[in-house]
Amino acid sequence: MNLFGLDRAQLRAAFEAMGEKPFRADQVMQWIYRRGQDRFDAMSNLSKDLRTRLARQFEIRTPELVTEQVSVDGTRKWVLRLDGGNAIETVYIPEAGRATLCISSQVGCAMDCSFCSTAQQGFNRNLTTAEIIAQVWFAARTLGGDFQNERVISNIVFMGMGEPLANYNAVLPAIRILLDDFGFGLSKRRVTVSTSGLVPFMDRLRQDVDTALAVSLHAPDDALRNELVPINRKYPLAELIDACRRYTAGKDRKTHIVYEYVMLDGINDRPEQARKLAKLLAGMPAKVNLIPFNPFPATRYRRSTPEAIQAFAQILRDRHILTTTRKTRGDDIDAACGQLVGRVQSRQRNRLGGVPVVSL
Ligand code: SAH
Repeated sequence: MNLFGLDRAQLRAAFEAMGEKPFRADQVMQWIYRRGQDRFDAMSNLSKDLRTRLARQFEIRTPELVTEQVSVDGTRKWVLRLDGGNAIETVYIPEAGRATLCISSQVGCAMDCSFCSTAQQGFNRNLTTAEIIAQVWFAARTLGGDFQNERVISNIVFMGMGEPLANYNAVLPAIRILLDDFGFGLSKRRVTVSTSGLVPFMDRLRQDVDTALAVSLHAPDDALRNELVPINRKYPLAELIDACRRYTAGKDRKTHIVYEYVMLDGINDRPEQARKLAKLLAGMPAKVNLIPFNPFPATRYRRSTPEAIQAFAQILRDRHILTTTRKTRGDDIDAACGQLVGRVQSRQRNRLGGVPVVSL
C-alpha cells in the first residue's frame, strides 16, 4: 500500500492494526510531508524493528516522470506515468508572491465541456488519493525539496485534468492531507477545489472539510450553459447557485466562491451577458475570474478580444463584483487552462478524430 494514499485518521488506524501507537503515524507523516523523506530506514525516531515492518508492508512511491517542459514564462509541466499507458499532467505556475501547483484528479474527464481539450479524450479512470498526493510530493521535491517553504508551493488548485468532485472519495482524503499540520500544512484558503457544478458533492464537501471552492460557470443562462457545460442539464443554474449560497452560508465573511468564466469570442462575451451574470451573482460572496480561452487543435472556438474582455470586466465591476482576468500562463508548452491532455490507455479514445461520446 502506498502511504501517499492515507490521511491521518486512516494512517493511524493502519498503525493500530499493526499493534503500534497512533502517534507513530503522525511521526511518519511528518517525515514524508514536512521533511520530504521517502525512505523508511532514514526515519530515525522510529525503532529499527518498526522501520523494517513498515518497509515490508508499505511503500512511498511517486509516478514515473515522462517529460518535463518549461515555458518561457517559468511555468513547468510534468507528464507523469501511472499504470500502463495512463499519464497525467501537473502544472507549476510561479508568480510574484505566490506559486501555484495545478493538480489532476482523473485521467481524462467525463464532463464533456465543449471548450476543454481534456474533454476531447474522454474519461479513462479516477486517480487514487495516492496518485493525487504524489503529484504534490513530486513537485515539492523536484522544485528543491524544501517541503516547508511556502515560496516553493504556496497554493494548490484542483484545476488539472478531471472533475475533482466526480472522484470525491479519493479527493477528500487528499484535501485532508494537504491541510493537515502533519501533512503539507497548507491553509484552507490556499487549497481550491474547482468544479463544473456537481451540486450534491458541493454539499458534501461543505460538510466534510473547510476548503476554497471555484465554480466553472462560463454562461449566465441555462440555454448557453447546457451547451458549454453539459452537466448543467442535470444541475441547472438555479440549483447550482443555491448550492453556492449554502457553501458560503455560516462561513466567515472573508469566504467567497470564485466563479470561472472562459471568454469565448461571440459566444458568451457580450455586454448583455455580463449584465445577466452580474444579476445572477448579485449580493453573493463572489469573485469572477475571466479566463481568456486557450485554443487547442480542432476547436471551433476563438478567444475573445482584449477589448471585449475589458468591457465585460468593467460591467461586472460597475455592479460591485470583484473581477480579475486570468493571465495566460504556459501556453507555449500546452500547459494553460483547458490544454491538458496527458495520455489515455484506450487506443480508441486516442485515435485522431475519435472523439468519444461520454454519457453522464
Ligand atoms: N473540472 C473542473 C476542474 C477543471 S479546472 C472544473 O470544471 O472546474 C480548469 C478550468 O479551466 C475550468 O474553469 C475550465 O472550465 C477552464 N477551461 C477549460 N478549458 C479551457 C480552455 N480551453 N481555455 C480556458 N479555460 C479553460
